[in-house]
Amino acid sequence: MKELRLILGDQLNVNHLWFQKVDKNVIYLMVEAKSETEYVKHHIQKLISIFMAMRSFRDLLTHQGHTFKYIPLDKKDHSGKISEEIIKICNQERIGIFSYQLPDEWRLDEELKNTTKLLSDTLKIQCRVFDTEHFLTTRDELKTFFGNKQYRMEYFYRHLRKKYNILMSEDNTPLGGEWNYDEKNRKRYDAKIKIKKRKWIEKPTNDLKKLFQNTPSMGEIGESIIWPISREESLIYLKEFISKYFEGFGPYQDAMTETDSFLFHSCLSFSLNTKQISPKEVIDEAIGFYKKNADKISIATVEGFVRQILGWREFVRGIYWAEMPKYQTLNFLNQKEDLPGWMWTGNTKMNCMSHSLRQSLTLAYAHHIQRLMVIGNFMLLMGVDPNQVDEWYLGVYIDAFQWVELPNTRGMSQFADGGKLASKPYISSANYIDKMSDYCKNCFYDKTTKTETNSCPYNSLYWDFLARNKSKFESNPRIGFAYKTWNKFSEIERKKIQSKAKTLISEKESL
Ligand code: FAD
Ligand code: SF4
Repeated sequence: MKELRLILGDQLNVNHLWFQKVDKNVIYLMVEAKSETEYVKHHIQKLISIFMAMRSFRDLLTHQGHTFKYIPLDKKDHSGKISEEIIKICNQERIGIFSYQLPDEWRLDEELKNTTKLLSDTLKIQCRVFDTEHFLTTRDELKTFFGNKQYRMEYFYRHLRKKYNILMSEDNTPLGGEWNYDEKNRKRYDAKIKIKKRKWIEKPTNDLKKLFQNTPSMGEIGESIIWPISREESLIYLKEFISKYFEGFGPYQDAMTETDSFLFHSCLSFSLNTKQISPKEVIDEAIGFYKKNADKISIATVEGFVRQILGWREFVRGIYWAEMPKYQTLNFLNQKEDLPGWMWTGNTKMNCMSHSLRQSLTLAYAHHIQRLMVIGNFMLLMGVDPNQVDEWYLGVYIDAFQWVELPNTRGMSQFADGGKLASKPYISSANYIDKMSDYCKNCFYDKTTKTETNSCPYNSLYWDFLARNKSKFESNPRIGFAYKTWNKFSEIERKKIQSKAKTLISEKESL
């Protein structure tokens, strides 16, 4: 009996059980679908990188002897939808079994559930679902672990450390004595630190640029892309990161500078999210290097890195599957403002924002603190509608897939889930941005004042956010203390701050 196996664009795991042997009765299907390129306005580099990675995956497997049906975006009779292409091929090829790997996104999960129902009901095709063999947890593991209790990353992370014996001592205590070394991983940017120049593997983009001529997209693209489009390239980037940047990752993971977009970050999220490499092998590589180089790599650095992948990455995925589809509609703070137009150009006088936005638009990349404490922070303080914030984040970043983007944006960054993911809103005035970066030095705005014409907008907006959400946060143990300071301001000062914030919001386009 002939079997059709679907591979989605983010399921490029060459080590999957499926590909271990060549079977002449199996046809692999990959579809470049218009529906996937247009459900949000994607960054052009993201569209091109995914298609390039899909094509190189097809070439590799074809070379290994597997049979492929690859439907390019510009195929003449293309329906534009994955589900319709599946049905078409099932009919054409007299398929008896249809198999797919669990999609990571709710949208595709629903689409494939409906398709398989139709295939089995009307064409009597047997349908099978496989795990992607990528994550360290199952979709519902977080839900089972917490039950009705509050989700907290730290507990889930510790559970996974024990479960997989990662960074654990023989007596089942955390290696080094502590579970968490966050305090040591918060060094501010220092102009004296040396950051080695990245060695990117550049691929020309011409052919694919033409393919997307009529697709609505955002961001910029040059003559080549730097993002890894094969497992081979992903492994080269992994090794480069571990040998050249890992040492600085821990201490400087929250630092930001105008002079370098990547600092000591791994830039592995695209490789991970498209499954070209697995989270376990990245963790193993980092721990292996730490063990051989304990004089260079601190326990705080290796723990800080493992926490991002074993902790945050698995945690946000668990929340996604526990809370979808309702999660994508939550708006706990009832925020309604529109996104300012400069989100698509970076044309603002706020240096931190302008730098982070321009970098996002030219590279499809910003690191975690730029996403959270510069861009996300400002959107939250201004009261922007989380639907619009989500859509922007889902489009702009090279690694943006809804299962990871949504909990990070709507939950961690915008607190629209009312604290399901984070125990407090991530907000700050200029103080934090100035402490962690060199942005304020060259800014039009004055980081030290709140209500002058040239005062840093974050300063009044920070207090206004707290004031307008007092009933929601005053008793929050992690942020409630700020109200003591707010209450110490005179009535006149409070009014001035709130009036300044109101003007900033209404005149946001000119900031
Ligand atoms: P590094 O800083 O080197 O971290 C190593 C790896 O840890 C990353 O590659 C990533 O796989 C993982 N990781 C770190 N933090 C997180 C996190 N909070 N959630 C999940 N994984 C994490 N990450 C995405 O992969 N896709 C997204 O769409 C995405 N959207 C985000 C939106 C907002 C508002 C925020 C605050 C964060 C978002 N993140 C997202 C998390 C994080 O910013 C990126 O994973 C990271 O910046 C990718 O760069 P890197 O590979 O250099 O990461
Ligand atoms: Fe950003 Fe304000 Fe600093 Fe300017 S002064 S860089 S707007 S935090």
